[in-house]
Amino acid sequence: MRAGQYPLEEKPLLIFYEITKACPLACRHCRANAILRPLPTELSTKEAMKLLDDITGFGKPYPVLILTGGDPLMRSDLMEIIDYAKSLGIPVSLSPAVSSKLLSEDTLRELRGRVSSVSISLDGARPETHNYIRKTALEPIDVFRATLEAFSKLRAFGIEFQVNTTVMKLNVHELPQIFKIVRDSGANAWEVFFLIRVGRGMELEPLDPWETEDVVQFLYDASLYGLPIRTVEAPFFRRVVMQRSSGAAYVGGGLYRELINELRRLMGEPPSNAKKPSFTPTRDGYGIIFVASDGSIYPSGFLPLTLGNVRRDNIVRVYREHPLLKAIREARFNGKCGVCEFRTVCGGSRARAFTELGDPLGSDPACIYEPRVNNA
Ligand code: SF4
Repeated sequence: MRAGQYPLEEKPLLIFYEITKACPLACRHCRANAILRPLPTELSTKEAMKLLDDITGFGKPYPVLILTGGDPLMRSDLMEIIDYAKSLGIPVSLSPAVSSKLLSEDTLRELRGRVSSVSISLDGARPETHNYIRKTALEPIDVFRATLEAFSKLRAFGIEFQVNTTVMKLNVHELPQIFKIVRDSGANAWEVFFLIRVGRGMELEPLDPWETEDVVQFLYDASLYGLPIRTVEAPFFRRVVMQRSSGAAYVGGGLYRELINELRRLMGEPPSNAKKPSFTPTRDGYGIIFVASDGSIYPSGFLPLTLGNVRRDNIVRVYREHPLLKAIREARFNGKCGVCEFRTVCGGSRARAFTELGDPLGSDPACIYEPRVNNA
């Protein structure tokens, strides 16, 4: 993600477009109810291309378009849509499922030179964990092994990739080993998602707030080994980065000590000249926007509040003028997020506030931080 003076008030850094809901996986925590055939409500090729035309209205440099799903590889016009985006100068990333023969060498050959990066999910350091979470609906393959093979193939084809991990009670103890696998894989970043209970995510148990704090503190320590780490739905990682970078110590609970001990055992001590992690202050609806397969526009894939539909609404206008997005980018939050000194760089997960409290501007229930009182 690019940092610096990017005008997040005027345009998102990232536009997620769920190009199809069709997917051969049936992951237990998927925000979408993935299916094996495209839905009739999906945007047509022509409508998808009109969305791309509309995106150019944000002006250059254009946001990065992340084609997600479902499995975007199940969309037959995928390469046509990518080529059209490229012809307009819109950078494209792809978030395919690792499930079957779809992510084949032939596909990677087609993607090379077309996409700027690919993201691949790894939710366990052990096959049992990853295969339990990422079930296949089509064929009984070892998704864990296929994922490790995907890393090798992407490396061989010279395609940049990042690894995404959704953290929950089920896999939290495997985080240090997952980190090592990701670092050794040649990935250019590790993106850690914190579970929000939507869609099939209802089946799984998220971390409690103290465990969440232990994990984001652990991620700070892990980031000192040189691999960029970002969080999704835990923007208070930036609060932790600011606190720890300015010398604040963290004693932490038992989970933190367990994760750190394992990290040190696997990786040794971090280099003495380790660079402090940097970040961009995006959050649901600020720097990020999501277009569902039927064209509905949401602040993010985890915040199911419809802002409009690209079939009738211009995405530029929605991003710049929707009252909810204005409130989010102006950090007009309720509860403790509204008075927190970190609210402009963090702002809490709007998706979790909505899911747990019914208020997209409420406080993030996963954050343990108590703001100083004089920041209202
Ligand atoms: S209280 Fe809210 S704004 Fe402050 S660090 Fe926690 S989540 Fe972020």
